[in-house]
Amino acid sequence: MCGIVAYVGHQKAQPIVIKGLKRLEYRGYDSAGISFFNNDTLFTYKTKGKVSDLEEILNGEVSDATIGMGHTRWATHGVPNNVNAHPQASNSGNLVVVHNGIIENYASLKEELISRGFEFHSDTDTEVLVNLIEDVQKKEKVKLGKAVQIALSQVVGAYAIVVFDKRKPNELIAARLGSPLAIGVGENEFFVASDATPFVEYTKNVIYLEEEHLAIIRRDREVRIRKIKNDKLIKPYIEELKLSLENIQKGGYDHFMLKEIFEQPKAIKDTLRGRLLSNEGIITLSSLREHENKFLKARRILIVACGTSWHAGLVAEYMIEDYTRIPVEVEYASEFRYRNPIIFPDDIVIAISQSGETADTIAAINIAKEKGAFVYGICNVVGSTISRITDTGCYTHAGPEIGVASTKAFTTQITVVSLIALYLGKANGTLSRFQYQESVTELDNLPTKVESILSLKSYIEEVAHSFKRAKNCIYLGRGYNFPVALEGALKLKEISYIHAEGYPAAEMKHGPIALIDKEMPVVVIATKKGYYEKVVSNIQEIKSREGRIIAIVSEGDTQVKELADYCIEIPESSESFAAILSTIPLQLLSYYIAVHRNCNVDQPRNLAKSVTVE
Ligand code: GLU
Repeated sequence: MCGIVAYVGHQKAQPIVIKGLKRLEYRGYDSAGISFFNNDTLFTYKTKGKVSDLEEILNGEVSDATIGMGHTRWATHGVPNNVNAHPQASNSGNLVVVHNGIIENYASLKEELISRGFEFHSDTDTEVLVNLIEDVQKKEKVKLGKAVQIALSQVVGAYAIVVFDKRKPNELIAARLGSPLAIGVGENEFFVASDATPFVEYTKNVIYLEEEHLAIIRRDREVRIRKIKNDKLIKPYIEELKLSLENIQKGGYDHFMLKEIFEQPKAIKDTLRGRLLSNEGIITLSSLREHENKFLKARRILIVACGTSWHAGLVAEYMIEDYTRIPVEVEYASEFRYRNPIIFPDDIVIAISQSGETADTIAAINIAKEKGAFVYGICNVVGSTISRITDTGCYTHAGPEIGVASTKAFTTQITVVSLIALYLGKANGTLSRFQYQESVTELDNLPTKVESILSLKSYIEEVAHSFKRAKNCIYLGRGYNFPVALEGALKLKEISYIHAEGYPAAEMKHGPIALIDKEMPVVVIATKKGYYEKVVSNIQEIKSREGRIIAIVSEGDTQVKELADYCIEIPESSESFAAILSTIPLQLLSYYIAVHRNCNVDQPRNLAKSVTVE
């Protein structure tokens, strides 16, 4: 994954790069490094650990350098240590590179470079790339941009890179294939970063570098962009950045995750804004209106996604089939892309991804497109790759999600899915007018209901305290609450490192029940309209085996209260919307368990947010 920041201009580069790297730490935090050029010397500082560790090494000293680049790493090739940290330098020491992605053919390239006398010090694929560029420079005697271009044409894999050559102290080369890069264009200054957050306070002009494009960025002239494949000059498209500093700060919360959990009422409202006119009973989604026929005539809808977005996909399957009777299948994008899937031209593929940069989902989209399917994207990050490569789509408008564990992205993805399902259900007449209007009103009331669940924070924190020493945990739900159980379990593992599994409640008796004893916490989602009686029976089965039960129930519940050790009451809703509501207490439960265990909630070990590698 990795985060990249680079700067060239008239300000001191080091503080801009360091501050930018901190904003990109959600992308990886195994190691951090910085290079800057001052007084004819290239300085590089690198360390295992976080950007704060790098700052310690810099020891408060700030260089006057006005050109520099930095990196925060999520290791793919080589353990996280100082040597494998980026920037990676070439053998001569003239070139440095920061890289996000994987060079798949690095082994053969490395062998060839070794045979030509190159030496390697790290285990990274990136060191191969920087020396490949140096090798091209030696052989071809071309300018830096051209050398990078030639080198990249020999590379198989994915990359977003920034290259600096100390003999060209006013120039940065940036290029991408598969991993994102944004270029901030200021007054005689330029920023390059994995997303726009590092430069939001400096400029509102941004160029999102396109796939297989290379940018030559020089202090004294406009950015030049070329296609890597054919050298064609491209006119840069400068967009206005719609992001504010406030959006990416913690705003008084202890963690981004908590802030983002609490932002959900607003995030859901933002998702619905202008799309749901509940009084008139109207849903307006231009992306659907324009392609309504395609959807209504679709043979199937295939949903591709990874992680939490895949769970949102499962909710979508239940809801779209329920409301529209169009068959839906949900696939892990990583499996779909490699299993020779059958895709018909009248299939519609919906790709779901918070970042819009998920490598496996992008690959799945490309396969679907090759086979002629119409692809609809649901993502949060405006201008992201998925939003650009899909035929059409819908943003969640949840605002930046920085905590690595996804929260508001999930609930807003389900909100978008609800809009789609209701729109199509109405359009093809599978939903009665009454059902439609009732659901529209419910959707409109969701933010208020979420608000009331958030007010249970202190109680949920107490419950979390009792379970902080748990070693395992089971999550159970039926129907729409089954994907919620999966998501609840994922959240707990991600941030508290407690082993947790989600199951359809009825599956328990086919195996997992063997695990139940008095040490085993079982979180059961037992809301009123979700096969309540059946879930109550499952709770009885757990109780008979002394399991400890935390139940998510509808307000006013009496039956489960008698059985469960803890009950968290949430407002009643129809079964389909319960998926959003029952998710909220599970997010808070995981959050507080992780806090009580002193875990790093926003940056859990081994994880990174935007999964731009396979
Ligand atoms: N492959 C590079 C490394 O391991 C970059 C990793 C990434 O972007 O995830 O250092």
